[in-house]
Amino acid sequence: MSKLRPGVLLIIVAFILLITFNVLSFQQQKRLNQECQKCEKSVDDINSLPTQSPQNVKKPVPAERAKGVIVILARNSDVEGLNKTIPQLEATFNSKYEYPYVFLNDVPFNERFKKAMRGLSSAKMSFGTVPHEHWSYPSWINQTRAAEVREDMRKRNIIYGDSLPYRHMCRFNSGFFFRHPLLEGYDYYWRVEPGVDFYCDLPYDPFMYMQKNDIDYGFTIMLPEYIETVPTLWKTVKQFMKDNPDVVHPKNLLRMFDDGTETYNLCHFWSNFEIGSLKFFKSEKYIRYFEYLDKAGGFFYERWGDAPVHSIAAAMMLPKEKTHWFEDIGYFHNPFRNCPTNPALQANCRCDPSKSVHHGNNCHNRYLEAIIR
Ligand code: GDP
Ligand code: MN
Repeated sequence: MSKLRPGVLLIIVAFILLITFNVLSFQQQKRLNQECQKCEKSVDDINSLPTQSPQNVKKPVPAERAKGVIVILARNSDVEGLNKTIPQLEATFNSKYEYPYVFLNDVPFNERFKKAMRGLSSAKMSFGTVPHEHWSYPSWINQTRAAEVREDMRKRNIIYGDSLPYRHMCRFNSGFFFRHPLLEGYDYYWRVEPGVDFYCDLPYDPFMYMQKNDIDYGFTIMLPEYIETVPTLWKTVKQFMKDNPDVVHPKNLLRMFDDGTETYNLCHFWSNFEIGSLKFFKSEKYIRYFEYLDKAGGFFYERWGDAPVHSIAAAMMLPKEKTHWFEDIGYFHNPFRNCPTNPALQANCRCDPSKSVHHGNNCHNRYLEAIIR
């Protein structure tokens, strides 16, 4: 065999190297192409997945929310009532907004209560106990006299007249709920009671409505109070106004309580429903008013309710345009309801407008008259 010359050998080696490199490069390219196809295919797979129906997709909560909180004073035995009420509030309003809940009780809530509530909404929930001094006799009350009053009211069959816890509840709602530490940092509260019904889908956020329109007190129902529960309330309020003329707003709503006689016509906003400003209740003027009433003793020597106490304050201290009738919030607290008669509003509701308490309701008419004058 003849010997290959070194130059020829070099050319052969270079040729082999070139071929090998090309083959490897081709295989690499092929693998990358395959991967790319796989990748494109997987994107197509995602796109071809059956899309969820809009009802199944939870929309994010609106970015624009008020500092609002739903406040529920309840007992451990109120689970059943809340099992009905909270799903209605969620379905008609809060599932879209997830405003937090604060539950308050004069004794600690038990685990059964908390677990049941947490199953009703994905909104944040807090459970608080009322401080003892907000749910007990103040030092200046003569407890023997208070017990005698309850016994007398029992004999006269006055509603809740014989109940001490009911009086603590009314005093707490009149002067203390808004100071509970769990309500710190919120601007507006919506008071809800176990067992109430909500009938209408709300196409807007009432907390934002309060904020945008600078409203401090919102209600659904007005009624007259039982005179037996507040015989000296009006007299006390009048004395307070004389001693504290600065609290009476020049554009107040007090005319709706005054039929031209010296007496209170007993009308009030029914406070089992309220959407209100916490700043209003925490104001120095409101606290001065509450403390004056508290010193007078009528929460125990009579049976003053938080409804007339709140209502008189709102009518006296606020300019009338800072109050608002939530006509469109269909609401029932036994035995009365607010159900919109306006057909445009009624379309969102599941209630009978002919049963609405506002038909022929003198207190409500007085409010509407006072607000336009
Ligand atoms: P009514 O609406 O005037 O008939 O009175 P309710 O019995 O509905 O009471 C008003 C609110 O206070 C409701 O939210 C009740 O759950 C709450 N409440 C009443 N009494 C007590 C009580 O003794 N303890 C607690 N924790 N809540 C109470
Ligand atoms: Mn109630």
